[in-house]
Amino acid sequence: MEWLEEILIQCPQCGEEFAIQIETAGDGTVAMIEDCAVCCRPATLRITTEGGEVTAVDVEAA
Ligand SMILES: [Zn+2]
Repeated sequence: MEWLEEILIQCPQCGEEFAIQIETAGDGTVAMIEDCAVCCRPATLRITTEGGEVTAVDVEAA
């Protein structure tokens, strides 16, 4: 079983979408900072996973 899932993030700074891969093993919410693939400005992501699936994604400017 693959514990990586690709999700689309909408950048809070430039509005463009970019894909990231996240690990979905283990339930809970993880926070991480990712640089936008388009404008390179950082965004704070809070990603909730449950049962190996992404159930919620919050994005805000870091
Ligand atoms: Zn951006």
